[in-house]
Amino acid sequence: MIVVMQSEATKEQVAHVSDLVREMGLKDHVIVGTDLTVVAVIGDDRKKEKRRLEQAPGVDRVVPILHPYKIAAKESRKERTQVRISDACVIGGGHVPIVAGPCSVENEKQILESARQVKAAGCHALRGGAFKPRTNPYAFQGLGEEGLKLLAAARDETGLAIVTEVLTPTEVDLVSSYADCLQIGARNCQNFKLLEAVGKQPKPVLFKRGMSTTIDEYLQAAEYILAQGNPNVVLCERGVRTFEDHTRNTLSLSAVPELHIRTHLPIAVDPSHGTGHARLVADMSRAAVAAGADALMIELHPDPEHAMTDGAQSLTPQALKDLVPTLARVAQAVDRSIN
Ligand code: PEP
Ligand code: MN
Repeated sequence: MIVVMQSEATKEQVAHVSDLVREMGLKDHVIVGTDLTVVAVIGDDRKKEKRRLEQAPGVDRVVPILHPYKIAAKESRKERTQVRISDACVIGGGHVPIVAGPCSVENEKQILESARQVKAAGCHALRGGAFKPRTNPYAFQGLGEEGLKLLAAARDETGLAIVTEVLTPTEVDLVSSYADCLQIGARNCQNFKLLEAVGKQPKPVLFKRGMSTTIDEYLQAAEYILAQGNPNVVLCERGVRTFEDHTRNTLSLSAVPELHIRTHLPIAVDPSHGTGHARLVADMSRAAVAAGADALMIELHPDPEHAMTDGAQSLTPQALKDLVPTLARVAQAVDRSIN
């Protein structure tokens, strides 16, 4: 970091800043300019208390240079990370897998029918929530372990890998024993104990951005998972809260190229939660692939009108089937492939 002194700072104040820097186990380098003096701090200062320097007399501001996240930062790894959920679903290479399925697992018939349709449309993994994070405590909360068993049955029949959400640290082992990939939902993006718990288990994690989480906060949150030893993290942009209300969320597609600049982790896009309307999902899916998304997560329901959760944003099987070939053409235009 760089400590910028106030223009009227005294030599004693500059010397005091240098002392504080050395006390932190770092090196100081004082640069006296014509108008301002700055103290450059040399060494890895990410774990140090920047506030102590900010509060020192004569200091104007402290400017960090290194990212506050270390393992997630692009500089920490030469190649882009590829996350393997199954042979058919490797996220972060030239291939853009599609993870599709209902918002919630509702019953055997619904999830098996969904899985067959997801497979028939040419998608690569099945999603479905067994544990649902609901805004209203009286709303359907998911089938719990019964839902996980139904997902496993759908995998047995179709061969599709399953992606499903985990809500609490105590349920991580249970969900991990059934799932091929654990989803962390937007509402838990900064639930740090849960992030640490999924960081300690071996399955990949599809990690959604919180609805009011900045990119910087999001990458620091991802660091919680990585720092526990799990390198297989897929970021997922699913829209953020804004003043705009024609959509459920505002799908921030500029986050995709921005995240690609900042991190080696792959980035999925969820246009279903990102828009809240089935009629917008196809266009925003194509836009996401054009923007460089490494995977898509799309909600589908065999009968959206009667879905227990998120029916309004769920594609019909036919709509998903029609969408996939158009995605393939967009992918080809940006040197990627879908199938
Ligand atoms: C979901 O995937 O069904 C879900 C609850 O998503 P989000 O956490 O993005 O709201
Ligand atoms: Mn949903």
